[in-house]
Amino acid sequence: MEIKRILIANRGEIALRALRTIQEMGKEAVVVYSTADKDALYVKYADASICIGPARSSDSYLNIPAIMTAAQISESDAIFPGYGFLSENQTFVEICEKEGIKFIGPNLSAMALMSDKSKAKSFMKRAGVPVIPGSDGVLKDVEEARKLANEMGYPVILKAAAGGGGRGMRLVTKGEDLEKNFWAAESEALSAFGNGSMYIEKYITNPRHVEVQILGDEHGNVIHVGERDCSMQRRHQKLIEETPATILDEKTREKLHETAIAATKAIGYYGAGTFEFLYDQDSKEFYFIEMNTRLQVEHCVSEMVSGLDMVEWMIRIAQGEKLPSQDEIEFRGHSIECRIAAEDPKSFAPNPGKITKFIAPNGRNVRFDSHIYEGYSVPPFYDSMIGKLIVHADTRQKAIAKMRVALDELIIQGIKTTRNFHLNMMESADFANNKFDTNYLTKYY
Ligand code: ADP
Repeated sequence: MEIKRILIANRGEIALRALRTIQEMGKEAVVVYSTADKDALYVKYADASICIGPARSSDSYLNIPAIMTAAQISESDAIFPGYGFLSENQTFVEICEKEGIKFIGPNLSAMALMSDKSKAKSFMKRAGVPVIPGSDGVLKDVEEARKLANEMGYPVILKAAAGGGGRGMRLVTKGEDLEKNFWAAESEALSAFGNGSMYIEKYITNPRHVEVQILGDEHGNVIHVGERDCSMQRRHQKLIEETPATILDEKTREKLHETAIAATKAIGYYGAGTFEFLYDQDSKEFYFIEMNTRLQVEHCVSEMVSGLDMVEWMIRIAQGEKLPSQDEIEFRGHSIECRIAAEDPKSFAPNPGKITKFIAPNGRNVRFDSHIYEGYSVPPFYDSMIGKLIVHADTRQKAIAKMRVALDELIIQGIKTTRNFHLNMMESADFANNKFDTNYLTKYY
């Protein structure tokens, strides 16, 4: 089935990024926007645009009836969800199915299976994927948590089954802190996700975060699009991503890819997805932590080294097309992404407002995925990421040098941005020597 008109149920850089591919494919892009986003670039570029409500996400980008109405009025035959908002919302997928509008994403059953992180982990364990020691499924009560923690030994980490974005997690270093952290994490999870189910796992002290990008089609074919290293994090949120993960040796890398492909087949998954693992640098073992059943922010680095357009492939899969074979995908060079946020580069406090001056970096193999322009006002209502600077070069060292020059060229005035944080990182010896883990920034920020 050929999709002709696609509604983009998102905003910001990903709305613009998706719009470009949709139009390049000769299809029509319909965008929806809140009143706070009426001046966005993609609203101007779209084939049709529909206001779906006021600034608050719950009234606009999370407002299913408004989005479905927009899809019907515009006679869109598919919806592209992006990341965040409704991209992993099962009710939304069900409604799309009922209304006969193609959801450009995975099958509902696979999404449901992976949405509860503790259930996903149990499933993966049974499928033979290495997982971090911990509870099998959700915890009954704090007593069960204590028993398991004593068996495994501290430190342990309490995690919300419905968690995401680094929220609903608590590190516990000693027994006497377990109970208060259990209650705190549970109430945080309840208010953030409406689900207080918790699970526990052994805390890996200095891990790297590595993940595998996969694509599956509706005919059972699965390929990987390489791995990414996303270990440069602040409060469990990614700030810099790169591919390949040069910390891995060739054997481990191959095993990681094979594991992700086998897991995708075990779920019967199609669409784009990411398997996230923690890699223990001492034992050289990797452990599954979760699967994201959507396009990731950091998909661009995989595009740079593979030459594939991930959004194009998501759409082609939704049209029932077959994937290329694994041998047809060639990986070349090294790619790095820096997430640029409207935040203070020292405190990371959000700093929305009007951009008075903007000069985008440029040049060979430099890509700035962003919806901002000079005179644009960054609204205070949404995630503070305003763009992603991505570079591609032959080696990691050259990619770092290229990123440093590109960051130097990037000028954004009127608001504070995290550009200078990234400049410091590109000049840091630890980053250059690959000597960091997911906790690296806790010493500094
Ligand atoms: P979220 O869904 O909120 O992103 P994840 O389960 O993907 O949560 O974990 C996010 C980050 O938290 C990881 O990249 C890692 O830095 C840290 N983390 C999660 N589980 C563990 C663990 N068992 N040991 C050490 N760090 C962990």
